[in-house]
Amino acid sequence: MKIRFWGTRGSFAMSGREFLRYGGNTTSVELVNAAGQRLLIDLGTGATELGKQLMAGEFGKGQGTLPILLSHTHLDHIQGLPFFTPFFIKGNQIRILGAAPSMTSLESTLQNQLAPHYSPLNGLENLAAGVSIDTITPGETITLPGFEVRTAAVPHGSMWTTAFRITADGKTVTYLSDVEYASVDEPLEVAVELARDADLLIHDAMHADHDYDLRRGWGHSPARAGVIVAERAGAKKLALFHHSPDATDEMIDEVVARTAARTSVPVFAAAEGEYLEI
Ligand SMILES: [Zn+2]
Repeated sequence: MKIRFWGTRGSFAMSGREFLRYGGNTTSVELVNAAGQRLLIDLGTGATELGKQLMAGEFGKGQGTLPILLSHTHLDHIQGLPFFTPFFIKGNQIRILGAAPSMTSLESTLQNQLAPHYSPLNGLENLAAGVSIDTITPGETITLPGFEVRTAAVPHGSMWTTAFRITADGKTVTYLSDVEYASVDEPLEVAVELARDADLLIHDAMHADHDYDLRRGWGHSPARAGVIVAERAGAKKLALFHHSPDATDEMIDEVVARTAARTSVPVFAAAEGEYLEI
C-alpha cells in the first residue's frame, strides 16, 4: 500500500520558509492499494493539490470514483472540500463517509459549509459530480473497494472524532489524529487495539511534550502519547502528524530526535510529499 500525506498541519494552514519541509497544508492523507484503488482521509487544504493532480487522469474525464473518510468536521479537516476540483466534473462519483456530529447530521454540516455566507457554491446539490454522504457509526467496520476500514470513536476535547484502521494488500495503517486521552501515559484501550500490529500508525502530535500541560483539554496529544500507543500496540512505524501551526521545520526535527531517542519504534514526522510504501 502507498501512502501520501497531502496535508500534515493542524488547526490552520501555514506558509513561509520555516514550514517548507513538513508542509503548511491541513490534513489530508491518500492511500493507494496494489490494484491502484484509492482512498482519501480528510479534506483539509492539502486535498486541493491532490484534486488538481487527479484531474490529469480519469477524474478529468468524469470517470473517477473516490471514497473519502472524514475523521470529523472541524474546519482543518474539511476546508479543502469546496476547492477539490473533481467535485466540479460531471460523472465523477465521490462518496464521503463520516460520523454525524453531535446534535446534527453530517450532510447538514457539510451543506452549511457551502451556504452562501461561506461559499459561492451554495449547496452540495450544485456540485457537478455525484456526491453521496454516508453516515457511519464509530465501531463499525466498512468495506470499500480494495480497503477494509475499522472505525472507533476517540475523545477530542469536548467531542469525539473517528479513528480508522485501514487494511489493504495485507498491510494496515491506523489513523489516530485529533485525539486526547484522559492521561497521556494511559491511552485508551480502543486506540491501542485499533493500532494493534499496524504497519504504520499516524498519530496526533500537535503539542510539544514540554508545553502539553498548558494545552491540556484542547483535544490533542503530545508526541509521547503516540509512542505509548505504538509501543503497546506493537505498531511497526510511527508517523507524528497534525503538526501545530507554531511548529517550524526545525522544531519538528527536534521533536522527532527527542522522540526517537526514547523508543525502539521507528518514528518520523509526516511531511507533504512523496509516496511512502508499506
Ligand atoms: Zn484538526
